[in-house]
Amino acid sequence: MILPIYNAFHPILKTKTKEIENIDDNILKLVSDMFETMNFAEGIGLAANQVGVSLSLLIVGDIYNEKDVLIHPRKAYINPVILASSEEEEEFNEGCLSVPELRENVVRPSEIEVRYIDIDGKEHTLEAGGLLARVLQHEIDHLNGILFFERVSPIRRTLIQNKLKKIKKGLIVPDYPMVLADGTLTKDLEKVANS
Ligand code: ZN
Repeated sequence: MILPIYNAFHPILKTKTKEIENIDDNILKLVSDMFETMNFAEGIGLAANQVGVSLSLLIVGDIYNEKDVLIHPRKAYINPVILASSEEEEEFNEGCLSVPELRENVVRPSEIEVRYIDIDGKEHTLEAGGLLARVLQHEIDHLNGILFFERVSPIRRTLIQNKLKKIKKGLIVPDYPMVLADGTLTKDLEKVANS
């Protein structure tokens, strides 16, 4: 089922999510719906609070290397925590499904160590670099109520103020269904599901 994505200025995206204690059928259904929603919206990562559920869960899609080899099959990360970050940082042009039509360069650590639980309830520790490290850091920020445009340089932040105001007011909307800051839905979900 395709779910609407919440606008960055909806309060749920400024709220820290809660840890998942039980991986029940509701969680498995949520993970499945999140993958469907992310594919529909053509994203590479999605956090549960972006679909209106304030739980510590994120998904990352398939990632291929430069030789077109699948290096990260799509996966759900439950209660993810960053244990360590490299001193080395890099800049990357980020976008966000909750922030339509905005892309900005963000500096983040190049490599991270993450602890998480998989959908079978097993705990893992993962060392990630490249795009995976980038997506995980962006999505873990969401779970902590932080948005990527809050990490851009002060000068850029000033320059994008007007665009952010338009996004907040719902004057810039995406092709996929979105719940705006005031709670209104931009598209009829029934029609989207049947199209
Ligand atoms: Zn995002």
